[in-house]
Amino acid sequence: MGAYVSLPTWWRSLDSRYRLVVGRCSECGAHTFPPEGACVGCNAVGSLVEVEPEGTGEILAHTVIESGAPPEFSDLLDAEGAIGVVLVELDEGARVPGMLTDCDPGEFGRGDRVEAVVRRIYKQEGVLRYGAKFRPL
Ligand SMILES: [Zn+2]
Repeated sequence: MGAYVSLPTWWRSLDSRYRLVVGRCSECGAHTFPPEGACVGCNAVGSLVEVEPEGTGEILAHTVIESGAPPEFSDLLDAEGAIGVVLVELDEGARVPGMLTDCDPGEFGRGDRVEAVVRRIYKQEGVLRYGAKFRPL
């Protein structure tokens, strides 16, 4: 099923989940995801201005969750098969965790180019939740 996120929290974070909205620092220009808290570049607080990135980037880290994974992944594995989990550095510089989609997750990894697309993430509390996943380019 994935980690528990309450519906109000989910709804508050839709801009980040659908469009990967990041915070551009008005002090140093670095991009932080999600766009809240301190800047990852200079630790300035209150300096982040929300911007929508292109959604393209490069895989920095990669793993595949398959059968034998902890039970909280069983519904997702039954529905989707092996899950590719990635950390992507967007072209703007922000680092975003996510899942691979539209591919065999074992065939892609570090250094491959991806783009964000909106896909179903999982169902929780009777509501299908959608958000950005990464598709290889
Ligand atoms: Zn900064």
